[in-house]
Amino acid sequence: MQLTPVDIVLHFSGMHWVLIVLGFFITFFSLLIFIEDTRKRSNQFFFLLSFMVFLWGVAYAVSDVTEGTRLAYQSLALLYGIGGVLAPISLLLAYTFAEGDDEQDISRITWSSGIPYILLAAMFFAPGFIVGYGDQGALVFGFGFFLYVCYTLSLLSIGLWYLIKKYRTSAGIFSLEVRGIIVLFALAGLFSSFFSMGLPLVTHNLDLFWVGYIGTIVFLIISGVSAIKYNFWSFKVIATEFFISFVGLILLVELFFATSFFDLLVRTLVAILILFSSFFLVGSVRREFDSRDKIARLLRELDRINARLKILDKKKSEFLSTASHHLRDPLTSIQGYASMLMEDSFGQVTPMTKDALGKIFESSKRLVSIIADFLDTSNIESGDMKYVVEDLDMRKLVEGLVADMQLGALRAGLKLTFTVASKKDTYITLGDLGKIRQVVSNLIDNAIKYTPKGTIKVRLAKSDDGKKILLMVTDTGIGMSEETLQKIFKKFSRAEGVSKVYTEGTGLGLYVAREIVKKHNGHIWAESEGEKKGSSFTLELSAKAL
Ligand code: ADP
Repeated sequence: MQLTPVDIVLHFSGMHWVLIVLGFFITFFSLLIFIEDTRKRSNQFFFLLSFMVFLWGVAYAVSDVTEGTRLAYQSLALLYGIGGVLAPISLLLAYTFAEGDDEQDISRITWSSGIPYILLAAMFFAPGFIVGYGDQGALVFGFGFFLYVCYTLSLLSIGLWYLIKKYRTSAGIFSLEVRGIIVLFALAGLFSSFFSMGLPLVTHNLDLFWVGYIGTIVFLIISGVSAIKYNFWSFKVIATEFFISFVGLILLVELFFATSFFDLLVRTLVAILILFSSFFLVGSVRREFDSRDKIARLLRELDRINARLKILDKKKSEFLSTASHHLRDPLTSIQGYASMLMEDSFGQVTPMTKDALGKIFESSKRLVSIIADFLDTSNIESGDMKYVVEDLDMRKLVEGLVADMQLGALRAGLKLTFTVASKKDTYITLGDLGKIRQVVSNLIDNAIKYTPKGTIKVRLAKSDDGKKILLMVTDTGIGMSEETLQKIFKKFSRAEGVSKVYTEGTGLGLYVAREIVKKHNGHIWAESEGEKKGSSFTLELSAKAL
């Protein structure tokens, strides 16, 4: 049977038309995206891929119609020839999406995938080497088909590899978007490969080719739309342009149906008016897109900077931790020797020297505690703070601490008292002894530091339902303004002008205290009537159920 091109088209079935229209639709859609930014490589490859998919659909319809005719092999070769070119284009698309527009790499990929393709295409001149028709029109596949499959699958895998690499390095919503594109890419590749290569190998026909074809188109549309949704391509602009071209087309067709010259005039005027206002509509939509695009780009930049900041922050914590460790050891030995010298371990020293040694001892003790604060802070931030939980008798702990700190208070001319609400009650909680001791000691120490004269009252009580243990440290010191109260538990926060009262503070003690208390599921807070009106700190922990 001799078929002319017109005969072939006339023989297309409904299904063929559906495939061709779908292919046309995706090509048109990708053309609009391409027009948006013709220089963008990913736009170019997306358009090229869609167009080739459209041709693939046409080739399928042609090969279906020409089956059994003299053109059968030519159209079959055309079908697989076009199918083969989809793989390198997909790879280029994946590459530009993942890595950007590096011209050198793009040409390297084009050449290294193009040359094998040309060799493969040459093999189509030998019917049956790659693919051909056997008895009763069954499809037969030769050795070349094996190469063909290897070629397409390996290029698709490399494309997938680029996308996965991109996914690993992207953050936030961008990683989600890349994940979606990876899934779509993999599905489109699998679907089209299975129905055009895998299944025909078994069934020896292309009866289900259309399933793979429709699948490929659907995945292409979804990936196009999803890329648009995340603002890569401007969906609104494209939709508006699509709509306007459609309206323009209808208006143009309408002109041909004018019944009189007057009618034609009116129709032309209406068409001009509508197209003119549409022009403004597109303009405003485009402006909106531009600003959105700018925001998206800024967001991406912010994401990148954020990731960098996180790395820097980690490095800072590591530095703090090592520096603190290195400072602590020599200080401990300074403290040790100063104390031994004061105790005349190396011979009698004069009272004046003893006084100086005492100052060295006190200063190094302060330094050790400052370094401990730094270390705690860096441990809290890196999540390395270790807690050993055991039964804690708060009464014993506070009583001991108050006794230890009595001398310091006395030296500062302050009265330090300790009371318990009920002597019969027990005050047992679960917690890390060392850490809770550090918190309570910090509260009493602060009270001594920030109280020029008066009394410090430490009181232990229980909540009305007996479920909470409350420790209050109340002083008659410098007090705090509302503003200061808001910030003292933050890192490096000190009240304004407080260094006049106590110079050496780091503003870390209460931050560390709150972090420790948080880990114990407790609360810590401060109250004050105002500056110079004293302060009260409360620590609340759960009482152990007996
Ligand atoms: P530091 O005492 O080293 O400055 P802290 O974190 O322990 O660090 O305390 C933070 C700030 O809270 C202090 O600088 C001070 O302004 C305020 N503060 C803490 N305790 C008291 C208190 N008892 N009375 C008044 N202000 C206090």
